[in-house]
Amino acid sequence: MRLNNKVALITGAGSGIGRETAYLFAKEGATVIVNDLNEEAGNQTAHQINEQGGEALFIQANVTNESECKRMTEEAITAFGKIDVLFNNAGVSGVGVLHETELEDWNKVMNVNINGVFLVSKYVIPHMIKQQSGSIINMSSCIAEIGLANRASYAATKGAILALTKSMQVDYAKDNIRVNALMPGTIFTPFVEDYLSKDPNPEAAVNAIKGRQLGGDLGKPIDVAFAALYLASDESKFVMGTPLMIDGGVVNG
Ligand code: NAD
Repeated sequence: MRLNNKVALITGAGSGIGRETAYLFAKEGATVIVNDLNEEAGNQTAHQINEQGGEALFIQANVTNESECKRMTEEAITAFGKIDVLFNNAGVSGVGVLHETELEDWNKVMNVNINGVFLVSKYVIPHMIKQQSGSIINMSSCIAEIGLANRASYAATKGAILALTKSMQVDYAKDNIRVNALMPGTIFTPFVEDYLSKDPNPEAAVNAIKGRQLGGDLGKPIDVAFAALYLASDESKFVMGTPLMIDGGVVNG
């Protein structure tokens, strides 16, 4: 198994890509710390893993709250003694053109998608430095590279994540910590269902997305989970500071 003896913390693992990755990491031998803001959803993910013979612990925490991030890390270290893999996956969508976006909505997207990555990493990295190893995977999006209508705040956060990933990689390479990013295209999860529900013509919106891809259908959470598995495992030990696209060819389409 590719993650034997590894402990992985996945934020936002109560749904979508995070949940699917938690399932896959557990199947590959990892002990999974399932984080989510949503207690019921996070518990469900951990319960499912434990039911199937894997090992998972749910820790409820809001990634935008510094004391909760500190507590989550301490609880994880107390339970398992180390964190080998951190998948900064939790994120929220922001819909709207810039001049119609309220500051409060803008700040909410910045807070979860950027501050959340900062805060969880801030408390996990000292443990990785102590153990002189680690793999951090930050969730960006293909939107960091292509223009998509009505997503100003969201695109800004996902672009920032790419810059942050490279900066982190340079800072922590000496501690044998790898930091890479994922850039998914449109992956059918509750997150996408939510923004499609706000679209006046969701069918046309889906067709427009598919029209931009080289691959036929929308992506699935497992497509991204496999990419996360690669970056988490030692198979990617020579991959550092890299944005990995899983986008059905949108960027090249
Ligand atoms: P999702 O909505 O299915 O899951 C996100 C999870 O994050 C939810 O369970 C939610 O409760 C949790 N969460 C939100 N705010 C949180 C907070 N403050 N603290 C802790 N947990 C919190 O979404 P998804 O589609 O699986 O997206 C996961 C990540 O992938 C996000 O960062 C998203 O931006 C990114 N992404 C998604 C797509 C896509 O098409 N679905 C494409 C590119 C990137």
